[in-house]
Amino acid sequence: MTTKIKVLLIEDDKSISTFVATALDSNGHKVTTAASGKEGISLAASFCPDIILLDLGLPDIDGIEVLRQIRSWNNVPVIIISARSKEQDKVTALDMGADDYITKPFGISELMARIRTSMRHSYSRTPDRIYKAKELEINFEKRLIRLEGKEVHLTQIEYQLLTMLAENSGRVLTYSYLMSAIWGPYIDSNNQILRVNMANIRRKIEQNPAQPQYVFTEIGIGYRMLENENI
Ligand code: CA
Repeated sequence: MTTKIKVLLIEDDKSISTFVATALDSNGHKVTTAASGKEGISLAASFCPDIILLDLGLPDIDGIEVLRQIRSWNNVPVIIISARSKEQDKVTALDMGADDYITKPFGISELMARIRTSMRHSYSRTPDRIYKAKELEINFEKRLIRLEGKEVHLTQIEYQLLTMLAENSGRVLTYSYLMSAIWGPYIDSNNQILRVNMANIRRKIEQNPAQPQYVFTEIGIGYRMLENENI
């Protein structure tokens, strides 16, 4: 990332906030930290951050509520910082408009990659025309998928699912988001139909469907597609 970005970090754990602030600062970014939800909401307005990193476990207001309040007037990208055991909280946050999440403990290169991806998806004006990663290529205009140069045939639903993930490559999309985007809001919340379609896609595009290299499962949350190299 070459441009300097303004990051608001809402996190009450001093060791994490110092670690993140120091790392982002040494990468040339401007960081402001808030140690409570109320302070975070107020800084989201006054500091005008380009991106917000939000811890869900805050001492005063729950992080989900902080997100809800910020989202009521602001579309700034928000990345959730959360503990490993809180799958349901992450899903709730993602479905409420968080852009992504990162699980503690995390490394700085992982955090920087998440920030870069969220910023790219939030600010790119034109949708990608081509997805390309490793040996997989999707041409969205021609509705053509090639693996190692050979055309891959998907059903209509499989195509929709794969392209939705490819257009959001690098980010996690929750099961419920994908379910309602493809089958509509009244679909049964059972994920079986989604899993069956994903298994079929993997059979067609992954060398070893049990160890996917293009579409990854984030257990209990959703799917994340390998980031587009063609950007
Ligand atoms: Ca915390």
